[in-house]
Formats: sequence, structure tokens, C-alpha cells
Amino acid sequence: MSSSLLMEEIDAFTYREMVTNGEKIIIVPVGAIEQHGPHMPVGVDAMLSKALSLSLAEKVNGLVVPGITFGYKSQQRSGGGYHLAGGLFMTGMTLINHVKELVIELASHGNRKIVFCNGHYENYQFMFEGIDEALRLLKMQGIDNMKVLLLSYWDFVDDKTIDKLYPNGFTGWGLEHGGGLETSLMLLLYPEKVDMSKVVKADPASLPNYDILPIQPELTPDSGCLSCAIEASSEKGEILL
Ligand code: ZN
Ligand code: MN
Repeated sequence: MSSSLLMEEIDAFTYREMVTNGEKIIIVPVGAIEQHGPHMPVGVDAMLSKALSLSLAEKVNGLVVPGITFGYKSQQRSGGGYHLAGGLFMTGMTLINHVKELVIELASHGNRKIVFCNGHYENYQFMFEGIDEALRLLKMQGIDNMKVLLLSYWDFVDDKTIDKLYPNGFTGWGLEHGGGLETSLMLLLYPEKVDMSKVVKADPASLPNYDILPIQPELTPDSGCLSCAIEASSEKGEILL
């Protein structure tokens, strides 16, 4: 069977051989199903984390395992909010357990090096918790040589790149939901899935620096986007990638 960077496309015998010495870098894309305005599909976070995981796998000769498609509840101040229809969210407890069980399962095959590539802002701390719990359990079972890397891909965009991409000023990653970063990467990686004619022109959302429960829907812009994607381009996507 031909080799692939995707676990689901290789046979079990090849997989076992590949991971048996624990040196293979296993990459887990983690995304979300969440509204991304009228110009992009709800799968953006899952699609981008998978594409970025694949390009990472190419660079480090890693193996991408089937990712986690569902994420933690979209927050009003970083994703528009979970009150908006079009998202499918899970609770923090479910995400913690999902990540924990996946680490334990991968470790039981001999894997010792795992990278979680996160594409949904709200997932991060729950993923951290799941990995931490898994490593504690594995240690009690005598497995103490795990190395797990947890990252959100936008944290690798440096200040110089930010200046280049946002000449009119950068409003921060929280407000990037459905904005220039995600739209530019989508234009590069999945151009046929973006409709730039539907981008809503608006100033960045103005949200309080605290949360209100229950959610006050009127605080989220009608577009569901927290900043405007009008300046997005595949050239910017290339720089980001
Ligand atoms: Zn997103
Ligand atoms: Mn998201």
C-alpha cells in the first residue's frame, strides 16, 4: 500500500511498523464547527488545522491522525458566541476526556511524540488539561518519556508579519474570528470555499473586556465576524503559511 501522511489512508501493518520505536511525530489537528460569517463555511477551524497539520507533517516526516472536529463552545469575545446557529460544540469536560483518551490510546501503540495543532481559540486550555491528565496516568503506569506539544497556529505569526498583514493596525487574535487571518489562509488553501462577495464591511467588533451570562446576543455583530475580512488575500495566506 502506498504511503501517506494521513493515518486513515495507511494500513495497520505499516502503521505499527512506523510507530513502534516511538520516534514518529504524531500530529493531531483540533478544530471546531462554528459559524464564520456569510463568506466562509462552518468547518474553517477544522479545515485549517488539518491543512496546517499536513504541511507540518511534510516538514518533519510526521503522521497526521484523524483530528478532533468538534470544539469547545464559541465565546462571544473570540468567536461570536455559541448562541449563533451553525456551530456544533461540546463541553469542556468532553473535550478534556477526548484529548486524554487519544493521548493514552496513541501512547499504547508505542507513540511518544505528539503534537496537537489547534485551530479554535477556545479549545486551548481544555486540551492542555486532557494532555496533562493523560501524562499523569501514563506515568503511574511506568510510561514517563512522553513529549506532547500543544500549539495554536496563529501564535507563530511574528510582529514583523503582523505589521505587513495589518497596515491599518492589528486588533488582536481574539477579534480575528472570520477576519483577515482565517480568510487569507482559506483563500490560499481552499479558495473554492470562500465567497469574498459576501464579506460584510464593518469596523472590528466592540466588546466589553468581561463576559456576561446569559449571553447578550446584541453584542455580537450581525455578520458573526469580529473583524472585517475585506483585505484578505491568498498572497497574505502564503505569508502566513
Ligand atoms: Zn475560526
Ligand atoms: Mn474558532
